[in-house]
Amino acid sequence: MLKFYFGPMDCGKSTLALQMNYNHGRQGRRGLVLTKHDRSGGARVTSRIGLGLEAVEVVDSLDLVELVTGQTGLDYLICDEACFYSVEQIEQLADLVDGHGIDVYAFGLASDFRSVMFPAAQRLFELADEVCRLQVEVLCWCGRPGLLNGRIVGGELVRTGEQVVIGDTDDSPVRYQVLCRRHHRAGLLGEGT
Ligand SMILES: [Zn+2]
Repeated sequence: MLKFYFGPMDCGKSTLALQMNYNHGRQGRRGLVLTKHDRSGGARVTSRIGLGLEAVEVVDSLDLVELVTGQTGLDYLICDEACFYSVEQIEQLADLVDGHGIDVYAFGLASDFRSVMFPAAQRLFELADEVCRLQVEVLCWCGRPGLLNGRIVGGELVRTGEQVVIGDTDDSPVRYQVLCRRHHRAGLLGEGT
């Protein structure tokens, strides 16, 4: 089974990923936790509410089929930040499900700061057995559901640039803000931001 859980920043994706790993572990199942560009900057899955776990960092050269078949007795993978994996790595996740009996639970953003889908997320939409929009509500400053990720540089919403830029760190001029569709399209960030 290949499942993809998607939602904007702050909707609890990493928290759910860690909870799912815990639940499977309690049933005696063996799994690996993978991530890429976690907010901690290291090879860990960390959640905004303070949970954390060591994880395998998914670099572009990593073959996920080799990673999994190189170990014995694995039942499942938890793939956090899967939107940042390569399309080829998403294909490898499908191969693991179909050819090796691994359950894969992928978590990530669907779309980037322009509201355009990440290639890996698009491939997950195409290949996954099940796709779930996470319902933990993140609100725009206006109170509507926050569906899209805005990239803000110098106090302004930007619409051009590299698809992946790490932000919200002390030494980055880039930050991200979840907005409703109306205010993402209008570029309105609300008062006090
Ligand atoms: Zn709004």
